[in-house]
Amino acid sequence: MKNDIDKILFTTTEIEEKIKTLAQKINEDYADKELLVVTLLRSAFMFVSDLSRHLTINPYLDFIVVTRYGYGDMLGKEPKILKDLDVPVNDKHILIIENIVDNGKTLFYIKEGLKIRKPLSIKTCTLFNKPKKREVEIEPDYNGFVVPDQFVVGYGLDYKQKYRNLPYLATLKKEIITPLV
Ligand code: 5GP
Ligand code: MG
Repeated sequence: MKNDIDKILFTTTEIEEKIKTLAQKINEDYADKELLVVTLLRSAFMFVSDLSRHLTINPYLDFIVVTRYGYGDMLGKEPKILKDLDVPVNDKHILIIENIVDNGKTLFYIKEGLKIRKPLSIKTCTLFNKPKKREVEIEPDYNGFVVPDQFVVGYGLDYKQKYRNLPYLATLKKEIITPLV
């Protein structure tokens, strides 16, 4: 697998340090609040796993399965919810956890969808951010790293469902990525 990697953009240690800082901020901001952490699966599974270990505020944790990026016939379609929340949101503060924000549509769509259910407040957190790619107006409230405008894998992000397990963020060699048609 190492042979498939072109460049490591953020190391395991850098990611760990960043997550501790983000968790500290979240712990302070939600110290006396009922927080529901809503994680977008699948790509944020590793992020929330590491982040939640540093949360001292005893939050609710729930998950939404969203799909948007695919290959072939799925490419370019709007985000779709495959699994919704199990926890009611109306008496809670929501923090949506995403792994990477690219054109912003996934986060925008989920945020707007949850707003309708009238939570006490709603904020967003992403570990990786590609601000230059934005097509809709959404800026996450908690941000980890700015990522260059490149296709990245690792730390939960896949290419054809592989590389999610890498404990760092990396780019793939050109010959690994087959044309998307
Ligand atoms: P957006 O709707 O903001 O364009 O995309 C967000 C979702 O697209 C992420 O949850 C992730 O699944 C996927 N995505 C965006 N950029 C990348 C990338 O560089 N690599 C991978 N593997 N997935 C990405
Ligand atoms: Mg994907």
